[in-house]
Order: sequence, then C-alpha cells, then structure tokens
Amino acid sequence: MAEPQSTLSPDERDTTVKRDRIKESVRNALWARTAGRCTICNRRLLGDQRTYLHSVLLAELAHNIGATGGDGSPRSRDNDGVDDTEAEENLLLLCHDCHKIIDNPDHIDFFPPEKLRQIKESFERRIEMVTENGGLTRTAALRVGCTIRGSLAMASQREIAETLLAVNYLGLVETQRSGDFSCRINGAVGGRGFWDAAQQTIDDAITQVRQAIHTGDVKHISVFAIAPVPLLVYLGWRLDDKTPTRLFQKHRDQFVGWSWSDQRAPVEFEVISSDEDTSAEHVVLVCPLTSEVNRAVFSDVLEGQPIIEVRPINEAPSPTLFSHEQSLVNFGEQWRAALATAEARFSNARRWHLIASAPVSASIEIGRAFVRDIHPPVTVYERSAESYEAVLVVSQ
Ligand SMILES: [Zn+2]
Repeated sequence: MAEPQSTLSPDERDTTVKRDRIKESVRNALWARTAGRCTICNRRLLGDQRTYLHSVLLAELAHNIGATGGDGSPRSRDNDGVDDTEAEENLLLLCHDCHKIIDNPDHIDFFPPEKLRQIKESFERRIEMVTENGGLTRTAALRVGCTIRGSLAMASQREIAETLLAVNYLGLVETQRSGDFSCRINGAVGGRGFWDAAQQTIDDAITQVRQAIHTGDVKHISVFAIAPVPLLVYLGWRLDDKTPTRLFQKHRDQFVGWSWSDQRAPVEFEVISSDEDTSAEHVVLVCPLTSEVNRAVFSDVLEGQPIIEVRPINEAPSPTLFSHEQSLVNFGEQWRAALATAEARFSNARRWHLIASAPVSASIEIGRAFVRDIHPPVTVYERSAESYEAVLVVSQ
C-alpha cells in the first residue's frame, strides 16, 4: 500500500510503494519466490524487453499490513501484530491492477490480511513445486574400471559428462566426495587373489557412495562400468536399491559411445524353466545374452541340475543385443520373474548357480535382483577357455 495521499481519491491513490524503503535483498527474494509473476493473477511481470526499468513499471510491491496506521492504510497496522511492515513476509509482488483492487476500500472485506497471507503462501508454494523438478537432474557418477591387456579401461570424465548431458543429467560438477566415485580394479583377471581383491575394491567404493547418500550429498547415481561379468553382478548386488540408479554401458556398434540408442526396437525376453526334480538343492540360472552358454562344459556340480534360463525372443544372443535402454528394462522384468520361478518351484534349493554371458548393464541388473535372506547364496561363474569356473558368491 502507499503512503497516505490526501489529495487523491481512493481510485487514484498512488499505489507505488516507496521502493527505497524496502531492502534490495527483500525485493530480490520476492521476485525469486514468485518467479516474476503477480501473486494474485499470475500475470508475468517481466516486460517483453526484459529491461529492469520495464519490469519495475509493471510490478508493484504491495504491503499486506500497511506501513502506517490509521485510516490511510487499507489494512491498518492497528489491525495486526506485524512489527516490520517492510519484511518479505508482509509484502506481495503484484501487477498494478491487482494492487489497485486489493487496496480499494470497497474491496477490503474481500482481502483481509489473513486471506492475502494465504494467497501469498499458496502461490509461492506452487512456484516452488513446479520449478523444483525442472532443469537438469543432479547425479553422481560411479565409474568402475579394470585392467585389460595391461592398461586401465574406464570411462573418461569427458565421456561421462557428454553421456549425462545428453539425458539432462548434471554430473561431475561436484567435489570428488559427492559427484565422482571411481573404482579401479587392479590386477590381471583371474590372477592369484584377483576376485577377492576386486570385491574388496568394489566394497570400498560402495562404502563411499553410501556415506554420500547418508549425508544427503547423493540422491541419484549413474553407473559406468567395465569389468568381468561376475564383478558386475557383485557390484549390482552391492548397490543401494533405494537410491534411483541409472546404468550405462559402452556400446560396441555405434559412435554414441556410452549413450543408449533408440535406433533399434527394444528386445523382448522369455523365461524357460525346466520342470525336473523340484526337490533339487541346486538350481542353475542361465542368461545367454551376448553369446550362447555352452552346457557341454558344465562342471559336475551343475550337471543334471534344473536350469532356469532367460533369453531373447526371436533374436540370437549378440554383443549388441542391448542398445535400447528399454531392452534392459524388459530383461530386468523377466529376470525377476525367473528368480520368482526358481524360488517357487525349487523351494528346497540351498544354492543357486549363475552362468551369464551378458552385457555390462544386464550383468549389474542381474545382481540388483538378488535379495539377501530371501534368495539362497548364488555362486557366480566366469567363462574360461573350456569351462565355467566358480569365482565368487553373492547373496550370502
Ligand atoms: Zn495481478
């Protein structure tokens, strides 16, 4: 509201607040909270030229409780216990028309202070809600790399930044602690102590990620991994299933690198379950996704045990099977259905055995689906020259 102006009729009252009395910080806060719109009618207050001068002409700061008491104020200070009438809580950013309406003595009964307070609160809450999820999603990148032919294979920061930006994620902009977790698996695959050391390395990285989640620094994770299948399964099993997580993988058949592509149609998958001896204590879970699994070289432990398989429908296993992200989603659904089948049909099983020929994303997804205390321990196998070798256990 304005300073009382005895020479003007109510309709003509100069409603411009003496701006120099209101702190710059308060004015800025009001513009920000209202996203530059009239708190009552939502009209955009920024002029088309976007000049500050123009904006100032369109927008007015209205007092809820007047700066002065007495009859000159439409909502007099005497009415309320407001101490600081120039405080942000007592001011509304309005267009000229709305300002005139609320300050018109004929309308006072329609706009008592409490009503204006409610309008202001609900308007500012609405702006907060609609703007909160706009823009880029902040994500923390978790990189896992390993040694291939003597050198470290790992996604570069540039590759990650490009991949994340393409899906409107904002990553790698934070400190090391909250935005970029890297996990370097050292040593030659299959070498002495390799699998144990690698699991420890993954555990250490996961501990860091969990701490950042716990402190609230991380609310979303993007995973970029290069590692042998058993370690990816282990990684998936160790990942927090409450934090939104998106998996990426390096694609072999395209220039897009780590980005998912929608060039090819998504692949569908099916579960094929043997109905052998339901009292079996061992169940073999098989995922032929990048190549067929050779059952002829199964070890004695696996020989003759019931098999539950998840495989692509109408497509042969191939290293490029997963290029569309929906394929991963489809696989994840069928994989969980397969585990449910294993649980229901072979309820005596003490141990599951996993043989997967799978791309990075699917391997991690396989691990994510195992539930401790519900599923039996799962021995994970690595393909070697002429056999499948048990290298680690998850879900125990
Ligand atoms: Zn308005």
